[in-house]
Amino acid sequence: RSSIVQAETIAAIATAIVPQQGSVGIVRLSGAEAVEIARHLFYAPGSQAWESHRILYGFIRQPKTQQVIDEALLLLMYAPRSFTREDVVEFHCHGGIMAVQQVLQLCLQQGARLAQPGEFSLRAFLNGRLDLTQAESVADLVGAQSPQAAQAAVAGLRGKLAQSLRQLRSDCLDLLAEIEARIDFEDDLPPLDLDWVRSRLDETLKTVRHILATAHQGELLRAGLKVAIIGRPNVGKSSLLNAWSKSDRAIVTDLPGTTRDIVESQLVVGGIPIQVLDTAGIRESSNPVEQMGIQRSRAAVQRADLVLLTVDAAGGWAEEEDLLYELIQPRPHLVVINKIDLVDSDPAARIEPILAQLGPASPVVQLSASQSRGLEALEQTLLKTVEASNLSAANLDLAINQRQAGAIAKAQNALQQVQATIQAGLPLDFWTIDLRAAIQDLGEVTGEAVTESMLDEIFSRFCIGK
Ligand code: GDP
Ligand code: ZN
Repeated sequence: RSSIVQAETIAAIATAIVPQQGSVGIVRLSGAEAVEIARHLFYAPGSQAWESHRILYGFIRQPKTQQVIDEALLLLMYAPRSFTREDVVEFHCHGGIMAVQQVLQLCLQQGARLAQPGEFSLRAFLNGRLDLTQAESVADLVGAQSPQAAQAAVAGLRGKLAQSLRQLRSDCLDLLAEIEARIDFEDDLPPLDLDWVRSRLDETLKTVRHILATAHQGELLRAGLKVAIIGRPNVGKSSLLNAWSKSDRAIVTDLPGTTRDIVESQLVVGGIPIQVLDTAGIRESSNPVEQMGIQRSRAAVQRADLVLLTVDAAGGWAEEEDLLYELIQPRPHLVVINKIDLVDSDPAARIEPILAQLGPASPVVQLSASQSRGLEALEQTLLKTVEASNLSAANLDLAINQRQAGAIAKAQNALQQVQATIQAGLPLDFWTIDLRAAIQDLGEVTGEAVTESMLDEIFSRFCIGK
């Protein structure tokens, strides 16, 4: 049915495995024997046809004993019209653990092999269904923690980044062909148009820089931010975390184990998943250093991408704050002045001059946690501080990950080297060396030039069943 050589049949549970949860669980098979295995296990009563892109209704049975394991639906996708471009069969079983695990066992007994993490996506890549950036987007979509992160992943899945990179690489190949022709057939061709070469290189580098500039946002969307709230006792750290979490309630998921006093909360701010840690639970102590939980705060600060140094508007900035300020250097931070409802004067006017003496101006936000006032300003200042205020739809389309950024940065260096080589008046052979390197680097991003060990590394980060 297709020109693709189907590999050994693999099987995995494709849905999350959670006891007593989920009404449907899916076991997926891909490979040469997928349909054969399904025919041994699935009984479809009546005259249902085993045709591609059909759903059959029936029972999954132990082939020897004929014991019914589950009542299920069977989805058939024959090669090449499937995710892996191989024959794919999905058993849509009852959810939870038992049905899917027993069905998976039966598939393995019938000769399928348990899939490695990401192996379905790897096959989709090897069979030309996806390029490498698209395959990575599959994993990104599964792991997305905000609507914007999901949007970026979907753009990647649809090939926005792949397209740009393929164009870049093909431009470089054109350039290489022109130069090499001059090396091989020097006498038969008109001389190389140097202006043309230069402007092509400039254009290419411009696009490369544009794509590289999205790496920071891509990282924020995928990995999110860790934010630590520190401050001396009673300035309102816990109140701030609570108020902030509540204001975001729509998309907040409480982490298991958090009780009355939340110490950690997962929010989404401007599309960025943010994990906020309260450095609460500081033990009462007569030792002032221990009282401030210096150790705890230090640990939290070290894990954080951004620190909120919280100060009491009425209490103002004192020696304790000097200590904490020192502790957070040189981490990115905001100074949060809390309890502004308690004071008439402008507390920032008193604190900002002190901050100015301590170092480069820290952004200051004033709010009242107990009245849930000023949280919007806190979020805006936070986004500005981490340079994420322009997380626009246009940028979401190309938001690259760190692996991609690494390879594209290498391509950028190589292209700049070509420019320098031309500038230095070196012979054509030298131009092609770096141009080839750039083409190789870009090929690593899309998978057009990729080694087996790179593939292993990329796909091993996927979950099983994807
Ligand atoms: P923490 O020790 O830093 O976690 O401080 P808490 O969040 O436990 O708050 C200490 C006290 O300050 C509590 O009595 C809070 O109700 C109070 N508090 C917190 N935020 C505000 C605020 O914005 N305004 C006022 N007036 N009181 C607040
Ligand atoms: Zn607290």
